[in-house]
Amino acid sequence: MLENLQGKSIAVYCASSATVPVPYFQAARRLGELLAAGGARLIYGGTNIGLMGAVAEAVLKGGGQAVGVIPALLQGVGIAHPNLTQLILTDGMRERKAIMEERADAFIALPGGYGTLEEIFEVLTLKQLGYHQKPIVLLNTANYYDPLLSLLQSATEQHFMKPSNLALLQVVSYPEEALQYIACYQPELLDAKWLPSDPSESPNGEVAGSE
Ligand code: AMP
Repeated sequence: MLENLQGKSIAVYCASSATVPVPYFQAARRLGELLAAGGARLIYGGTNIGLMGAVAEAVLKGGGQAVGVIPALLQGVGIAHPNLTQLILTDGMRERKAIMEERADAFIALPGGYGTLEEIFEVLTLKQLGYHQKPIVLLNTANYYDPLLSLLQSATEQHFMKPSNLALLQVVSYPEEALQYIACYQPELLDAKWLPSDPSESPNGEVAGSE
């Protein structure tokens, strides 16, 4: 089934920090190994630091292709990975994100900080508005993202988000599951973000019967 990944480009967003606990590095390396074994191309932020470096290193070690997309400014400070299949230099972080989004057939976020959160939420926001129909996976290694998932659940219960939009983010625990989901992915039927699809919702957006 992982043969479905052959030739696909998969964007991986993850921490640049090098001092996170070991299990996160193990997950990053495992994901890199599986990408290489499945013949998928890694698209990522292009550095050799933290989980970003770990996933790229594992892809290259496994004989796979790793494409880095990095702003010229950051490449200038010496954190670009030196041995990538391809290193694309951009004018800034926005262009970098746009290139990653365009080139990727699927998106995976491992644990990370602001950068990772920004990236995964951007592709989710674009998907809920119908700009793309690519699979998006959150790799919840060691339950790192549980507090975030509680917030998203609460946002949905309070009608800040539709359940169908919450479901655009596939949450998994292990790298194998992330790639299985992508390999078998069929695009969801999206309902329009801003049209009330629930008859209990009044035209002004309030839920009937709520205070
Ligand atoms: P963070 O989660 O805050 O460590 O940020 C990591 C994410 O932001 C990665 O997925 C990268 O794509 C992006 N990022 C962070 N630092 C850099 C960098 N120096 N060059 C390119 N991308 C970066």
